[in-house]
Amino acid sequence: MLTEIINHTPKDVLTIEYMLGNLCNHKCSYCFPGSNTGTVPWPDVNIVLKNLDHLFSVYKKVGKTKFDLYLLGGEPTLWKDLEILCENLKLKHDINIRISTNGTRSLSWWKRYGKNFNRVELSVHHEFAKVDHLSQIADQLFEDDINLVANVLMDPDHFEKCKNIVEHLKQSKHEWTIFAKSVHFGGKTRYTEEQKNYLTSPVKRYPNEEWWNRIKPNDSKELWAIIDGNKIKVRENWFALNDLNHFKGWTCNLGVDHIEIFQDGTISGNCKQQIYNMPYYNLYDIEFENKFSPTIQPIICQKNTCECTYEISISKKDERV
Ligand code: SF4
Ligand code: SF4
Repeated sequence: MLTEIINHTPKDVLTIEYMLGNLCNHKCSYCFPGSNTGTVPWPDVNIVLKNLDHLFSVYKKVGKTKFDLYLLGGEPTLWKDLEILCENLKLKHDINIRISTNGTRSLSWWKRYGKNFNRVELSVHHEFAKVDHLSQIADQLFEDDINLVANVLMDPDHFEKCKNIVEHLKQSKHEWTIFAKSVHFGGKTRYTEEQKNYLTSPVKRYPNEEWWNRIKPNDSKELWAIIDGNKIKVRENWFALNDLNHFKGWTCNLGVDHIEIFQDGTISGNCKQQIYNMPYYNLYDIEFENKFSPTIQPIICQKNTCECTYEISISKKDERV
């Protein structure tokens, strides 16, 4: 029986997944509901900067002095103020900025703005991706020494096509990481046994060793599971592939090690559970600096299924056993 998940991200790091908007130039069939409809305006960058400063100051008081900010959309590169956000945060904080993007912006855009990011996660969606364009961008980022991965979303209904995209990407000029990423439907995967076997080793190409040794981050993000009393090292996708992502009643470090900021500014988890044992705070509240002073503590999970791959891997424990 699974009783604990241990995430070895350093204790002084707060990870923040920030959904900047829901405008996207793709319409992937497996996209999360509401993530590409363009119904939410982009945020006011001045309010975001002011209130993130305050949020970071609150976390600094409990030892979270480093921030790992993961930017998502919709498609975040469509936001005109993205560069202002990144530049200002880097000036004031010890921060690592990652971005998930469909990579549709031009090569010249990536040459100019790619350096804003410590890591670029290029999502390759088989219905829309221009694979050669993505390959060119990845080669450019590689030449600029930016940590990057191409995540090929493995649609179970078009699995062979997705495998062919993986092979196509392997023809690139440089060797960067290619990852076969599981697609979730309501927190579940629906792969055949053969497809699961393919996904058991999701890294389909490791990066050039000399390049990787030069640019790799020095923080450990190892993930361990305690199962039947034994500690085993696992990958993020292992829990959902084995239907082990159900933690109702467990004590979870959501709100302590990780927070989610939604497109409307709500601060929570992707699972939408209230954190800090308080009603939801909102990053876009003009009174945020006065209101946001929560007690930062673990919460008891009230959800039947933990649907988000990253949130599954937050440290958590079943303290009832
Ligand atoms: S690129 Fe991402 S946000 Fe856009 S439709 Fe596809 S899955 Fe949704
Ligand atoms: S559903 Fe939310 S509260 Fe429950 S384990 Fe996952 S992240 Fe934690």
